Amino acid sequence: MKKKRVSVLGATGSIGKNALDVIRADKDAFSPVLFSANSRAGQLASLSAEFPEAKVAFSGRREAAEAAGLDGRKNVFLGANALCEAIAEAGADVTLNGISGAAGLEPSIAALNSGSALALANKESIVMAGALVLKTAASRALPVIPVDSEHSAIFNLLRRQGREGLKELLLTASGGPFRTWSAERLKTATPQDALAHPTWNMGRKITIDSATLANKGLEVIEAARLFDIGADDIKVIVHPQSVIHSMIRMNNGAVYAQLSRPDMRLPIHEALRFPEAVPALCEELEFEGLCLNFEKPDLVRFPMLSLAYDALRAGGRYTIAYNAANECAVAAFLAGKISFTGISDVCRQTLDMDWSGEADDLPSILESDRLSRAASMV
Ligand code: NDP
Ligand code: MG
Repeated sequence: MKKKRVSVLGATGSIGKNALDVIRADKDAFSPVLFSANSRAGQLASLSAEFPEAKVAFSGRREAAEAAGLDGRKNVFLGANALCEAIAEAGADVTLNGISGAAGLEPSIAALNSGSALALANKESIVMAGALVLKTAASRALPVIPVDSEHSAIFNLLRRQGREGLKELLLTASGGPFRTWSAERLKTATPQDALAHPTWNMGRKITIDSATLANKGLEVIEAARLFDIGADDIKVIVHPQSVIHSMIRMNNGAVYAQLSRPDMRLPIHEALRFPEAVPALCEELEFEGLCLNFEKPDLVRFPMLSLAYDALRAGGRYTIAYNAANECAVAAFLAGKISFTGISDVCRQTLDMDWSGEADDLPSILESDRLSRAASMV
């Protein structure tokens, strides 16, 4: 079998490290051609030593690259603009985008423009620019394969069941570390409390988003765009064990679910090998003693979820504003500038402004992102 040429963007993050585990474990299937990072130059230098044929792109401070011995070497791309250049030159068959935040959007487009399939963990690309990303992919007949566990589950369920007779999507949510906290106690939640996720080990931004349920809000928008389905037909169900990754309900009443241990290596492996079936790398799910619970999400204690539905229904540039306001608010919370409940206050204030009017090309999407950030400064 010919090895797939793989680029891993955000190789030093949580998704990136899981992807490297998959690539090392299934080494006959993959040949890495590019790794990228933004601040952890030392880890990127180690990857470059382990995979000398692969290019590496470092978008952070030049001094950090120099200290790690990355400068002046062949196959090394340095600087903020170098990542898209490296993507264009890498010639990947599939690009895993594990960059966090809005910074992932341009690399997603660059990967598709280079002729690579897109294995997408960076949900912000779809929340900000779903139509543009999908149009770019369609114009080149390239697949966008979701890596987010919920969307990976739905993608696979819809491939197997077909869309005929589909009633609605049921997105599961762990509920995060504050699922049982009262509204009063939530006001006192610290970054340390919020970073202690009960079931998933992830980067800081998405971990805070899981605590506010903004992550589920972003995922509702992501699902609407990826699967071309309306807000009314996407339901969120809190399922603390994170064993059911999502479900689809059919008009005849049947519900189909995807179950596995909470381990991101499975959706990453499936996206990298798509459309082939993958050999088992992860531990099997044991049913003995397994107890699965379900609850309705509490939109009063977790207003970020209802704000996401509002933004999705409002259309225009509201989902760009939702994402940007949330990124600013999370950074302010982590910096100790605002309280945990202040995150939704910042987002509500930004969304109260007028974001009607479409932004459908990359420059206008990036400009809307910039304006939303300016409006969300705290
Ligand atoms: P991490 O914070 O762990 O990693 C982010 C990666 O992106 C790092 O490699 C980081 O580089 C790089 N990066 C950060 N900022 C920039 C930038 N401005 N330009 C270029 N590269 C940058 O995040 P996660 O791995 O947790 O999440 C990545 C994405 O995947 C997010 O969109 C998240 O929502 C999504 N996702 C994550 C899941 C998970 O389990 N972690 C599950 C589902 C989706 P460096 O480390 O060098 O600074
Ligand atoms: Mg998810």
